[in-house]
Order: sequence, then structure tokens, then C-alpha cells
Amino acid sequence: MVGQRVRTRFAPSPTGYLHVGGLRTALYNYLYAKKMKGDFIIRIEDTDQSRKVEDAQKNLIKTLEWAGIIADESPEHGGNFGPYVQSERLDIYAQYCKQLLNNQHAYYCFATHDELEENRQLQIKQGLQPKYNRKWLPEEMGGNMPASIIKQKLESGAPYVIRMKVPDYVSIWFEDIIRGPIEFDSSTVDDQVLMKSDGFPTYHFASVIDDHLMEFTHIIRGEEWLSSMPKHLLLYEFFGWEAPKVAHLPLLLNPDRSKLSKRQGDVAVEDYIRKGYSAEAIINFVAMLGWNEGEGSEQEVYGMKELTEKFSLERVGKAGAVFNIEKLNWLEKQYIKNRPTEQLIAAIKPILSAELKQKTSLMPLEIITSEVYLEKVIELMRERVGLEHEFVTFSTYFYFEPESYDEEAIKKRWTVDTNTLLLEFVTILESLEEFSADNIETQLKGFVEPKGLKAAVLIHPLRILSSGVSFGPSLYHMLEVLGKETVLRRIRTGIKKLAYPV
Ligand code: GLU
Repeated sequence: MVGQRVRTRFAPSPTGYLHVGGLRTALYNYLYAKKMKGDFIIRIEDTDQSRKVEDAQKNLIKTLEWAGIIADESPEHGGNFGPYVQSERLDIYAQYCKQLLNNQHAYYCFATHDELEENRQLQIKQGLQPKYNRKWLPEEMGGNMPASIIKQKLESGAPYVIRMKVPDYVSIWFEDIIRGPIEFDSSTVDDQVLMKSDGFPTYHFASVIDDHLMEFTHIIRGEEWLSSMPKHLLLYEFFGWEAPKVAHLPLLLNPDRSKLSKRQGDVAVEDYIRKGYSAEAIINFVAMLGWNEGEGSEQEVYGMKELTEKFSLERVGKAGAVFNIEKLNWLEKQYIKNRPTEQLIAAIKPILSAELKQKTSLMPLEIITSEVYLEKVIELMRERVGLEHEFVTFSTYFYFEPESYDEEAIKKRWTVDTNTLLLEFVTILESLEEFSADNIETQLKGFVEPKGLKAAVLIHPLRILSSGVSFGPSLYHMLEVLGKETVLRRIRTGIKKLAYPV
């Protein structure tokens, strides 16, 4: 293995969606392979046919590509080690299984489901860890079942599985890149089923064979697979193969340190995409779930390129990594702050067009859909939005008339004089030649000060009437962007519409 080209893999089961934990596994495998100038491969593990979901494979690969994780070999793009879908490799598993049967490392088991369950319950009652009782272990392999009965059963066509024979009382030792040396006692390991009665291999069997045949040098996967290591290592030994290096990633936790679950929030990457999170922020966020650059580094924003240069398995921690959505939101804001305006304009345009199909705007369409206008909205809102689509959805007043007004704010801000003041000020605004933030501000101050009033008496009502809400960017700049015609119309219509004060 020394000097061998690094090959890593992401081996998802096509059960529907890409879990954020899966994305992290894929990302770490990708980053490690790319850092080592090696190859990253996607293999689809669909040996559990009952859990298979139509189109899941396509979606998984599409989602990974959306995130910038492009495989060098995959079912969609091929490669020299295919097929990359396990259900297309059944003859390979059958052939290796035969080899284990011949070498007495595996045996047929005809136990029925009820029998196994009965045995399990009995063991639990006796306080034992449930394990297969080896009823069908042949005499010549140290068991009690005569060869003649096994032959008879096989000839009768009775359904069977094939199990591996785990040697008794051996110590299984390996070194995990993240966790260090780990030892298992073989007596804790069950005689794992390798081939199921439907002729499909189990995960353990297929993945070991494929990991070997596809020449992976490093297996990087979630902590939940750590306990499978003794079975896998025994299989490597039975075949006389060298096992790849392994790294088991820390668990993902909810903020209350329970295991990350759907109940406490979204776990499908697709949910985050649908909500409008960007690939950059998601990748950055997921990369930090277990990895950090090292002591002394305060950096939190990392692009894919930099991650590829800096990532190392040695800097992946053992302790569970807390999935903190606030962190993702913070990262998303950082990316929006720094994203080139043209890129934001390109992202906003289709969102706005979709909105314009649903709702009519009283503003001139050629203005509000123009790049000049969108750029002004972006510059005002860049620091305020959390997701790209919020340039439209959180700031609808830049395109549409307010549908309602913040009632609470009206109650707080309106006095009996407010409407009169507003109507008077509207005529001043109307006479403005240049409808600029500076001019509006000067006029407003010049209007209220001689009356012994504060600017606030108009600032808040103006904001509410022209946007519907009581928060937002600098009022004067917002009015300038909306334009004279829109602002005058909104103030006048607003005053008429308002229920308070009567
Ligand atoms: N198919 C397994 C999964 O769904 C892969 C485990 C492994 O990487 O070995 O996570």
C-alpha cells in the first residue's frame, strides 16, 4: 500500500435523501482524496432492496454535485472499477462467497425467522448478549450439524442464508486514524450473515469485497460503523487481503447533545437547499462538524479550495460534533456579505420573476427588474438578509405595495397630528427635484425642527407607510430607492387605508 494512489469512497444506500451526516462523510472523503492528489469515488450500496427508493441514486449524486463534490468515478460517470452499484455486482459476491464456503470460513444456515427470534428471547432472558446459536454449524467446522442433513436441506430447496464462521477467542486489533488503537474480542462477534435468502449480500460482505476490489486505501465513515470493524477485518483475513486504513468520524449531535435527529430539525441536505442555503455555506458548515485547522486558528470561513489544502484526518476530533444551526446562519450571512453583486442579481432575478407571476406590482416593471435597481436593493439589504431569496421575500416592499401595516407600530407611533404632518410633508416631497436620500433628510429636518418636533415623528410613520413594516435599512436611502412616485402613492394610499387613528 505504500506509495499507492489514495482512493476514498462515499458509499450511500439509496434510501431517499442525503443526510447532513452523509454529506460530511462524502466531503471528508473528497477533501482527503483531493488533498492527497488521489481519487474520490461514489458507490451505491443497494443490497437492501426493501429500502431502495426510486431516483434516490440520481438525487444523491445531484445533491453532492450541487455542493461541489464531484466524484472521479461513480455510477453516473463510470470508471475502471465498475459497476459502482452493488445490485449489479451479485455474481462477484456469489463467487467470493463460494470461496469462503470452500475454505470453511462460511456455512449455510436454514434457521427460520421464528426459530432465531425464540433463541434471541431466550438469550436475553438468560442475560446474554443475543447471538446466533450455531445450530447449523457443520460438524467438520466444529459444530453439530451432520453434512448429510445440510445436503438434504439444500437439495430440498429450503431457503437459507450464508453465515461467516467467526473464530473463537481471538483478539482483533486495528488502528483507527482518528481514534487510535482499538481491540475487539471475537467472542463478542456474531456469525454475521454474508448472503441473505434473496441472494443478495449483506452490507458487511459486499462492502468488504468492493472496498478491496475497488482498491480503496482509506475508509472514512461515521462512528456507527466502528463496531462492524471486527467482522470486516476477519473477512479481509479470510481472503488474505490487506485491509485499508480506517477513520471513523464523530457523531453529529443536537445542541442538547442527543444524537442528531429529524425530530429536532432538518437533517436532509435537500431541506436546506429548498430553504435557500448556499452550497458554500453548507460545505463550510459541514466541514467544521468535527474538523478544525488547529489551535490558534480563529478562522471560520473556508471555501472548498482552502479546505482541500488544509484538511487532515489527524485534525478530526473524536468527540461528538454539535450541529448548531445558528452557526450555519451566521456563515450564510458572511457569504452573502461578500458575494459579488452580479452573482446576487443573477440569483434574485428568477425569484423575483416567480413572485411577479403571482402578484401584480404597481411599480414600473422595467425599473424593478433592472440590474441598476436590484443593485441598489442589494446594497441596502446585503447586511440584513440571511438567505439570498430574502432580497425578494424579506424585502417585498421594494417591488410590491404593502399588503398590511404593522399595527403595533402604528399604535405606538401615531398621534392625532401624524396624518396632517404626513400630508403636509408629502407636498414638500412632491416638489423635490432630486429625490435623493440627502435631500429627503434635509427637507424632513427642515420641516419638523421649526415646529419644535423631532425627526422621529415622521421617520417612523414614513417607514411604516412606505414599507408596511417598522424595521429595515436607512429610511432616507430606502425612500430614494423606491422613488418619488411610489413613495408619494404609498403615503397617500396608506393614510386612507389606516384604521388608526380614525
Ligand atoms: N452503506 C453504508 C451507509 O449507508 C456505508 C457504510 C460504509 O461507509 O462502509 O452508510
